[in-house]
Amino acid sequence: MNREPFPRLRWNLTPRTFMTESPSQLVPLDARERPGGCKEPLFGYDTAALAKMMAGQREPEWRGKQIAEAIYRQWVKEISEITTLPSLLREKLATEGWRVGRPRISQAFRSIDGTERYLVQCAPDDPLTVETVWMPEGDGSEAGEEASGNSKDWRRATICVSSQVGCAVNCQFCLTAKLGLQRNLTAGEIAGQVVEVLDRHEVGVGRDRVNLVFMGMGEPFLNYDNFMGAVGLLVREVGLSPQRMTVSTSGIVPGIERFALEPEDLRPRLAISLNAPNDRIRGEVMPINRKWSIAQVVDAVRSVPLRPRERVTFEYVLLAGVTDRAEDARELARLVRRTGLAAKVNLIAWNPGPGIDYAMPAPATVEAFHRALMGEGIAAFIRQPRGRDIFAACGQLKRTVETS
Ligand code: SF4
Repeated sequence: MNREPFPRLRWNLTPRTFMTESPSQLVPLDARERPGGCKEPLFGYDTAALAKMMAGQREPEWRGKQIAEAIYRQWVKEISEITTLPSLLREKLATEGWRVGRPRISQAFRSIDGTERYLVQCAPDDPLTVETVWMPEGDGSEAGEEASGNSKDWRRATICVSSQVGCAVNCQFCLTAKLGLQRNLTAGEIAGQVVEVLDRHEVGVGRDRVNLVFMGMGEPFLNYDNFMGAVGLLVREVGLSPQRMTVSTSGIVPGIERFALEPEDLRPRLAISLNAPNDRIRGEVMPINRKWSIAQVVDAVRSVPLRPRERVTFEYVLLAGVTDRAEDARELARLVRRTGLAAKVNLIAWNPGPGIDYAMPAPATVEAFHRALMGEGIAAFIRQPRGRDIFAACGQLKRTVETS
């Protein structure tokens, strides 16, 4: 089987090239002409950009706020439903080729544990799809948090969001890596996955407890501008808190350094996908470690200011016989202590996927690893596998049609 069916980014590209190959959709208003005459989505423009667009239509700028209110707070799907706009203006926008253009769930798969995995189509004319996951009781990695007490059949949920179609990072244990990188998602396409899922589950923003994890398909820090553009939309337009968001990176050092400069009211929590106790093993399971070593990643993480009581998360995938041995636990504990960071470790028993030559750790081994870390004074949690039966668990996201 060809393990690299799509072209990959090469590591000798500069970090700047990595992060600017697809600029944020929030910036260029004149980019609305798309090849093939396809319609331009409003979803993805923030209030200021919509106001500017309305001014260009010789309309008052506050019409932009009305559009933003409709698409980000009321979650309308059609321009015809934006009833705060005069009907003539709605018709004019539609005639000019504008549409709300929120990504839509085209297929849904439900696990026996309640997890739902969605195939999300970003545009009607786009054959590429991404995956988004709804976990109605979280992923078990936030032990100790209180329930919200609302009346739904879930108390706290987590949405796992994709940032790219496929991924170039090539972690050896990950099914998404097999797709290679196909394209970056725009800010609207990333934020749109979230709103589509919130809408499906009738989530009350500000009322229900929902966490976002940017841990789906792709490496967010290799699509940095669009990722942070999406965070801006979700925080400032949709009304979600950045403190309920976690972004996971495989260790893209220039991305972490940029992230450190983001304002606190826009910065999600940070997770580092570590997955090995030393550079030798990490280089085998995550080739990106050959570009940026653990020490370089940790140095960059130290520059990220943390809020009171905030901790950096180290994600650690347990691969049987590779990263789950007693000596690995001891070395990992030493490594985490040496960083001096306020940190916790999330342990993830590797989830199997077709064509990947690793083995799942035994449950007793996972428990022993967890105990060993705790015994060394490291805050550690076992992340419960969610949706394994529908390939929704960590590292299993690939195009649904191929794996269902
Ligand atoms: S684990 Fe994340 S960064 Fe690594 S290949 Fe998979 S999607 Fe990309």
